[in-house]
Amino acid sequence: MATLASQPTHLKEDPWEMARSQLRRVATLIDLDENMLNVLSECKKAVIVSVPTRMDDGSVQAFEAFRVNHNIARGPSKGGIRYHPGVTLAETKALAMWMTWKCALMGLPFGGAKGGVVCDPKTMSVTELERLTRRYTTEIINQIGPEVDIPAPDVGTSPREMAWIFDTYSMNKGYSVLGVVTGKPLTVGGSLGRVEATARGATFCVREALRRRDQPVAGRRVAIQGFGNVGRNLALILSGDGARIVALSDSSGGIHNADGIDVAAAVEHKRENGTLGGAPGTEAISNDDLVLLDCDVLAPCALEHSLTAENADGVRADIVVEGANGPVTPAADRILEERGVLVLPDVLANAGGVVVSYFEWVQGLQEYFWKESEVNAKLNEIVTRAFAETWELHERRSIPMREAAYAIAVGRVAEATTTRGLYP
Ligand code: NAD
Repeated sequence: MATLASQPTHLKEDPWEMARSQLRRVATLIDLDENMLNVLSECKKAVIVSVPTRMDDGSVQAFEAFRVNHNIARGPSKGGIRYHPGVTLAETKALAMWMTWKCALMGLPFGGAKGGVVCDPKTMSVTELERLTRRYTTEIINQIGPEVDIPAPDVGTSPREMAWIFDTYSMNKGYSVLGVVTGKPLTVGGSLGRVEATARGATFCVREALRRRDQPVAGRRVAIQGFGNVGRNLALILSGDGARIVALSDSSGGIHNADGIDVAAAVEHKRENGTLGGAPGTEAISNDDLVLLDCDVLAPCALEHSLTAENADGVRADIVVEGANGPVTPAADRILEERGVLVLPDVLANAGGVVVSYFEWVQGLQEYFWKESEVNAKLNEIVTRAFAETWELHERRSIPMREAAYAIAVGRVAEATTTRGLYP
């Protein structure tokens, strides 16, 4: 039996230290009590499990996997599950902490969590992935539940995996538990609008930022890194709004056309060929060069650490919208701030997914499902309100949007923690 532990990764810094340093900066900004900082700097619970999985050739692989809850002061914890060879415990803890701030900033009654399995889903068959997912669910079955901790998709997972989690949990309970996981397919209690929700939320943020600069979305030049759930849908929605998508990429590289890429044709090309490279009317561009392109909006929608101290100086976009979690390191943040680049932080810009996940959870608990127009209107209301609150603090205290977003979110979690009191 072979064990697959974390592989060399995309991570250029320790993400957990990065998340904690962001929290410490905000603690100073809002005069957070030191005892409170001690509480919020740690994760409530981190579970490490081994997930033995029978492979199609008859061998058994033991995959290392995690589920981390950062904080539950405001409600059950919520966060995606990542399947990627570079998953680490430190990364999962950082992502769980960011989920706490994201849910608080959006005003959702959730804390933060995250899960991850060290595996390469691209090299696994559907049957292997199903066995892995069902065993992982069983290993963490006491950690999750509609009132406890509610997973969702992240990098490398999709509605398909959520359906397997829903089914495995329900089989163990003996009845269907719709509220145990979100991002499910529509046929088993998913919400209309969930698949596009993260990209739609990011679009609302871009639109609000441009509006404050008296610029329309139409005609803006946008470069997008990552062509999965977030990046692909962001390209489709923004191009539908008249923006010019000048570059797109996935893990194997990117494509570029300064006059604008036909996004629907690129989606079709990727579906047929498995890669963006060679899409009609485009030239190849590397992921390293894509982030330095001359454009109005740069949207890193892949993994952490796309913009670091090494390349932030070369960014030519006016606005960076963090579709991914943690794509801009704190050092890059400072460089971009000095250069007047507006960074729309992940906890705000990609929160659309968890907002509609919240809607899915509510619909599942009520067993009453909403129209897509209702989902999108409510999403718009929540994200636009959070943007306005963040923008107001950003302007009033002359601080970056990230610090403003964190200040609001951390303040809300601290307030809930104080109100509940320390048990016992
Ligand atoms: P996904 O698995 O659907 O897509 C990831 C994409 O990134 C793929 O196109 C992949 O090829 C590309 N990629 C991977 N490594 C890359 C690299 N080194 N350079 C360029 N591209 C690379 O994942 P997703 O759901 O779209 O998530 C993307 C990011 O958005 C993650 O940071 C995730 O945590 C964040 N996020 C996702 C959601 C959601 O609802 N799916 C919500 C909030 C945040």
